[in-house]
Amino acid sequence: MMPAHQGDSGELRRNEPMSQHVSWRAGGRARQFYRPRHREDFLEFLHARPAQETLFLLGLGSNLLVREGGIDATVVQMHGALKEVKWEEGCLRIEAGVPAPKVARLAARAGCSGAEFLAGIPGTMGGVLAMNAGCYGAEIWNFVCQVETVDRLGVLRWRTPGDYDIGYRSVRLREECRLGPEEWFLSVLLHFPEGDAETARTRIRSLLAQRVADQPLEFPNAGSVFRNPAGGYAARLIEGCGLKGKRIGGAEVSLKHANFIVNRGQATATDIEILIAEIQSRILAEKGVCLHPEVRIVGERA
Ligand SMILES: Cc1cc2nc3c(=O)[nH]c(=O)nc-3n(C[C@H](O)[C@H](O)[C@H](O)COP(=O)(O)OP(=O)(O)OC[C@H]3O[C@@H](n4cnc5c(N)ncnc54)[C@H](O)[C@@H]3O)c2cc1C
Repeated sequence: MMPAHQGDSGELRRNEPMSQHVSWRAGGRARQFYRPRHREDFLEFLHARPAQETLFLLGLGSNLLVREGGIDATVVQMHGALKEVKWEEGCLRIEAGVPAPKVARLAARAGCSGAEFLAGIPGTMGGVLAMNAGCYGAEIWNFVCQVETVDRLGVLRWRTPGDYDIGYRSVRLREECRLGPEEWFLSVLLHFPEGDAETARTRIRSLLAQRVADQPLEFPNAGSVFRNPAGGYAARLIEGCGLKGKRIGGAEVSLKHANFIVNRGQATATDIEILIAEIQSRILAEKGVCLHPEVRIVGERA
């Protein structure tokens, strides 16, 4: 690989353990792994890699289960790489690798309101955009003015929310807007309404305290495993079937929050996936509801 700028490019690693890069702290390896030094390095890397090489974009791995057989692709980590943030005429322009909680703090400090929900989402803005992440009644795409995307060929585009079908934890480029290969998010322009800095800071503190009280943050996890079914809550269904505390190997349905699966130390991705499947079949059999994972399951089976 040609360095982007001599001495200023990331390191291409082989056979990288993905357990070090996902919040579940479990899973297989990536065939190759690259963390660019910055945006230009990432764009040069895209051009330099053979066209047939598959790339997989990773944020903070807080919504990912990587199967034991690993990812047969080059994983490109945006966290720590695309990290610029700037204000432009009352809007925040943020690169895809910036952690969401940082955006919440920046917006609060500037006296904006509405970004507080991001404080407790432990992902990057790229992952937040890809998932339409949200909580407490807010979702990221409510605040998006524009996104900048890049595709595998290195083509850059600016897009507006109107180019996407946006739903609950789902974002898809509209069919008629697809012009080439898959597009990834490089940066986003966000607008939050004017508010009050102290009110926003207080709300952040209170939302974080609520999370500590409700979520098993003391164990590795990936947030809510299942999407909530229409008109209901996955956690209630799981708890209603007596599945709290159910264990497969080192994976356990959290005793604190039934829609979380925690890694009690030695969980494998297979333990977690079997537990997911077992929850699904019990809920279908006992409640007649088909639960769909919110977490993305990627990679090859062992
Ligand atoms: C304790 C905890 C609490 C959580 N609470 C919430 C919550 O309240 N609400 C919520 O919605 N989620 C929550 N999550 C889940 C998770 O944090 C979000 O889904 C987050 O958006 C994932 O971001 P990430 O950077 O970690 O993405 P990753 O897990 O790294 O990737 C997720 C997906 O996004 C894709 N992706 C990543 N970057 C890009 C990019 N630049 N362009 C295109 N695609 C990209 C990846 O390829 C992958 O398919 C929680 C997770 C944890 C561990």
